[in-house]
Amino acid sequence: MPTRTSPTRKMSSGVVNGRQTTPFTMVTTLLHLMVILSQLLHCLGFSYDQASNHGPSRWGSFNKMITSCKTGSQQSPVMITTNTAKRIPITDLSYNRTHPIMGVFRNNGHAPQFIPDTGSNNELILKNVPELVPNDFVFCDLHFHIGASSNNGPEHILSNHANISGEVHLVHWKRDGHTPTLSAALRDPNGLAVVALFFNVIEDCQGETDRIIQQYVSRIKDVDETKQGYINPVRLYPNRRYYTYRGSLTTPPCSEIVRWILFETPITICRKSFKILQNMETDEEGSVALSVFGNVRPVQRRDVTGLKKNF
Ligand SMILES: [Zn+2]
Repeated sequence: MPTRTSPTRKMSSGVVNGRQTTPFTMVTTLLHLMVILSQLLHCLGFSYDQASNHGPSRWGSFNKMITSCKTGSQQSPVMITTNTAKRIPITDLSYNRTHPIMGVFRNNGHAPQFIPDTGSNNELILKNVPELVPNDFVFCDLHFHIGASSNNGPEHILSNHANISGEVHLVHWKRDGHTPTLSAALRDPNGLAVVALFFNVIEDCQGETDRIIQQYVSRIKDVDETKQGYINPVRLYPNRRYYTYRGSLTTPPCSEIVRWILFETPITICRKSFKILQNMETDEEGSVALSVFGNVRPVQRRDVTGLKKNF
């Protein structure tokens, strides 16, 4: 693995002691919200087939709920011209815990996804999000993006990268007095912090990503299949170096509420794991494998203002 030196220590340097307490009613509400959000994505009926009327170039045209995809000015993903990034003297990202969290893996029809179980003893909280340092961000979703087999690639493009096969996204929502719930955070211009980890495919299987894919993703081949399991996001991170900018969700509704954090050093997954991702069934017409169209939104052609890096 590239420069994977003591990832746990790096990421845990700012461990927050003192657990959050969450009333049971809020826990129940959050669980329901995540399910509703998943179902909503399902219902939006978007496609990654470029030739389809619901394909990426048509997002925002066929459904009023996702017009941001067409009319927004801060859409993602983007090309990152790395030598234009300004350096920020910021502390490293950190999580409140270094041990695994429980949750459910699910084939949502577009991507393999992990949603953590709710409950204060299972919360993973991201701290030191750039430009939003005082805020807590609660981890709520991990999923994978891969290109079509004819055109492998990630969603974001870093100008100094080559041979990248895909991207893992870890989604966190901002919890404070103004956004006490996930649904409130989704209406806040700074409501989400999404960490993107690029990955390369290698022969040898090793590490947390291969374990996740082989142990769980391999068992959710069909749309809507689920599998209980655990992950340890802290173990996924390659090191501390990242780029950051403001943008949007890369899937409908394309909401412009995301602080993106793109780690510079790719992680790796092995060929066997990559094939498992490629073979996952999607809800595209004909229930084709993920490798047929991939689940990568094309880069959005726009100037990226405020691009920064922490190294
Ligand atoms: Zn994503």
